Amino acid sequence: MGWLTDWRRRRVLAKHRIEDALWDDATRGLEFIRRLPSPDREKLKRLVVLFLAEKQFAAAHGLEITDRMRLSIAAQACLPILELGLDWYAGWSGVVVYPGDFRVRRTEVDEHGVVHEWDDELAGEAMPGGPVVLSWDAAAHDAAMNVVIHEFAHKLDMLGGVADGLPPLHPGMERRAWHAAFEEAYRGFRDAVERGKDTWLDPYAAEHPSEFFAVISEAFFEEPREVRRRYPDVYDQLRLFYRQDPALRERS
Ligand SMILES: [Zn+2]
Repeated sequence: MGWLTDWRRRRVLAKHRIEDALWDDATRGLEFIRRLPSPDREKLKRLVVLFLAEKQFAAAHGLEITDRMRLSIAAQACLPILELGLDWYAGWSGVVVYPGDFRVRRTEVDEHGVVHEWDDELAGEAMPGGPVVLSWDAAAHDAAMNVVIHEFAHKLDMLGGVADGLPPLHPGMERRAWHAAFEEAYRGFRDAVERGKDTWLDPYAAEHPSEFFAVISEAFFEEPREVRRRYPDVYDQLRLFYRQDPALRERS
């Protein structure tokens, strides 16, 4: 991003740090963050300081957003980019937080030129080139999903231009290996959902390859050993992409 950004970031880091008590409070209940070895935790805290300096939080629908909320969201948002860096979230700056799930109006024109409109109730949304929108209620209380990691995984996916489940791969990673791992996993998962089977991952992952990537990214950080056991090839690709091996941190 250039020397100016580097210089600004060094200044921000020289002037700001996160109080331990606030960090502990904000990450209470986030076991996947609390189990980080201390050098990684310190690195995450520095990234969070930069994230809070460079991203603008906006509260919607009368929510009063506290430092603890901001910090909790930032810590979870920064975990996926711990080894990638904040530039992976470049090009947009807003994080909008609603108190609960929010409604968005959808419009679609079908092949006959008929306009369809409907309302969607969402816990989170990531807009290409725009903000990440989150429900605080879902972020804080929904044990079935991690909406923060989910939406920020979409942001990484969108860096490739479209949300298609294929983020920009690093040099040395093979697109073919990525596709082979994800297509097999996604197809098998979709079959299981279509046959009405109980699935370990949220069935929502069967909606689209980009949703599968976002949902399995949540699991990769929260329950990495289970991902490694069930989807070893996908785990390997995620390990190479995120440049982290979270299964090594998880206590058995
Ligand atoms: Zn999604």
